[in-house]
Amino acid sequence: MQTNFSLAQLADPHMATSEKILRTCVHCGFCTATCPTYLELGDELDSPRGRIYMIKDMLEGGKPASEEVVRHVDRCLSCLSCMTTCPSGVHYMHLVDHARAYIEDTYKRPWHDRAMRSLLAAVLPYPRRFRLALVGARLGRLALPALRAIPGLQRLVAMLSLAPASSPRRSKARAPAVFAPAEFAPGAQRAGRVALLTGCAQPVLNPDINDATIRLLTRLGVEVILPKGERCCGALVHHMGNEKSALDFARANVDAWTREVEGDGLDAVVITASGCGTTIKDYGFMLREDAAYADKAAKVSALAKDITEYLSTLHLPAPAEKPGLTVAYHSACSMQHGQQIREEPKALLKRAGFTVKDVPEGHICCGSAGTYNILQPQLAERLKARKVRNIESTAPDLIATGNIGCMTQIGTGTSLPIVHTVELLDWMYGGNRPDALSSIQR
Ligand code: SF4
Ligand code: SF4
Repeated sequence: MQTNFSLAQLADPHMATSEKILRTCVHCGFCTATCPTYLELGDELDSPRGRIYMIKDMLEGGKPASEEVVRHVDRCLSCLSCMTTCPSGVHYMHLVDHARAYIEDTYKRPWHDRAMRSLLAAVLPYPRRFRLALVGARLGRLALPALRAIPGLQRLVAMLSLAPASSPRRSKARAPAVFAPAEFAPGAQRAGRVALLTGCAQPVLNPDINDATIRLLTRLGVEVILPKGERCCGALVHHMGNEKSALDFARANVDAWTREVEGDGLDAVVITASGCGTTIKDYGFMLREDAAYADKAAKVSALAKDITEYLSTLHLPAPAEKPGLTVAYHSACSMQHGQQIREEPKALLKRAGFTVKDVPEGHICCGSAGTYNILQPQLAERLKARKVRNIESTAPDLIATGNIGCMTQIGTGTSLPIVHTVELLDWMYGGNRPDALSSIQR
């Protein structure tokens, strides 16, 4: 694609990066075939190619974002399905991230939109605040039938509907902590030493995921560290265009993990939410202009591994028993498109004895996408219904996935149990049967 940025514009490194990305697009439109919003709405402006044109026009013209551009960029899930499809290697993620930050700088959203976004940014990345908010949300759920009847409250209704009906217990995995390998005799070799990202919303919504990860890794001879100073990965605010907050979170994590790297060393930073994994693997890019952090951030990004990527490097013993269960594996967009991890989770589940079913239209987003299911509730509901239909068509006993956002989103649309992949692996390799499977009589 031809571009016409001025030299003055290209002096801005963010603009220069976006210009390079824009030039790689050859307008072929292959990406439209796999874009969930284009498939649902049929509007070119809600396709990757349409958005790329609009972003180019906005950035090149140096003009403030228009209401139209904001509407169509806001509808983008950042699912990155278009990146998997694109034959020209257009880095849509970096382009839309820049566009979102540009929108936040140049566009004044209506007050209710600003208020909702500020609320989400002030609560979700902070586990204590989020836990407290869930208590309030549970009370709010009592009013859901009445709220549903009031026009204009779809976002509030979506937020309350996604809150769990009961209080999850608190996880034992709270930083700072060190979990020694179970079989680690003095003088013996440990299998590895990893930092586990505790996360922000995930341990509040489902503490079993981190607990199962620590049990499984320590049983396999890996020392697990929850370093002091670790925070939210920054993905939630990053996707809302709040670049400053996202970079503050990223720097805090880079500091926390670098201290461990420079101390006793780390083999990996293990992540159990693929949405966080995509962002942490991008820290090197996000902090490339920060002389004090660029190198450290690149090293942290290189260490970042999804739990299934890391487990694939370890020797897993043969499971003691066969579960006799069929799992529909839902590959989160941040897993398959953001990190290009496709086979490892399924291979691990199969090796553990599960029958694994691929989901038809598996490349299409479930509508979760960070805060998307709250900010774009109607589209998110349509995508959830489509995803649940496809999953249920495989007649599984349960659903497994690797991202808490998808678990919450899909879990509100089906009665099938839904668990994190690592919970199933922990169970098969000597841990507890996940509580979520209590309804299955096997
Ligand atoms: S990120 Fe997803 S929703 Fe956004 S343009 Fe690409 S395919 Fe479409
Ligand atoms: S598939 Fe790639 S090159 Fe073709 S229009 Fe989409 S982004 Fe551009």
